[in-house]
Amino acid sequence: MTVMSGTLYIVPTPIGNLEDMTLRAIRILQEVDLVLCEDTSVTQRLFKQYEIDTPTTVFYAQTGIKNIERIIEKLKDGKKLALVSDAGTPTISDPGVLLVDKIRKELPEVSIIALPGASALTTALSASGISSSQFLFLGFLPHKKGRETLFKEIAVSKRTVIFYESVHRIEKTLETLSEIVSDDRQVVVARELTKIYEEVVRGTSIDVKNYFHKKKDKIRGEFVVIVEGKK
Ligand code: SAM
Repeated sequence: MTVMSGTLYIVPTPIGNLEDMTLRAIRILQEVDLVLCEDTSVTQRLFKQYEIDTPTTVFYAQTGIKNIERIIEKLKDGKKLALVSDAGTPTISDPGVLLVDKIRKELPEVSIIALPGASALTTALSASGISSSQFLFLGFLPHKKGRETLFKEIAVSKRTVIFYESVHRIEKTLETLSEIVSDDRQVVVARELTKIYEEVVRGTSIDVKNYFHKKKDKIRGEFVVIVEGKK
């Protein structure tokens, strides 16, 4: 009996600027049998730009991933698949991690090859000028349960803290940070990275809160928040 073993490529895609694709990412997306994506219309825009006509299938849902058993069967059949998300590096704060976890546990014969590339986390951190020799990444803060505990942690953290925030909660979050983060620590809000209205705002927690309070038109798009560690 021949044992077939497929390959899953984890392929980062741009977080805004469509030029942020590596040559290798384009080649892999052209070569694989199927691309697992989040929203086909987002992935098709990218494919059009790079003349990729590989079939796609929606793989993400609000609650997690879909069709996992079908994907597993394809990998067992020796197929080459690529996992992409709408933006950035799949599996970083997105449900793609569930697939990689399952394959690592149940299908050790499948090769998992992760390509380096765009991520809002590293892009924000590198633009911030805040030390990243040690940092704590919190992903998205929970909406209710556990949120206060995390703010308490941020208030005393000696490490740089970084998290993702949505447009709906950014003002409230900055309000809370202004109450708990002392003036000798810098706070950075990086929004719309790599896009036309890219902006990196840095100052004390009160400065940053006031900036967005005065400029409501800037409360738009996607946000990464960074808080310098306590000295
Ligand atoms: N896996 C992605 C990555 O590696 O960047 C992150 C996925 S997470 C579901 C999406 C969040 O990343 C957004 O809500 C926002 O907080 C952040 N984000 C994504 N693109 C961004 C951008 N261009 N500028 C700022 N933040 C961004």
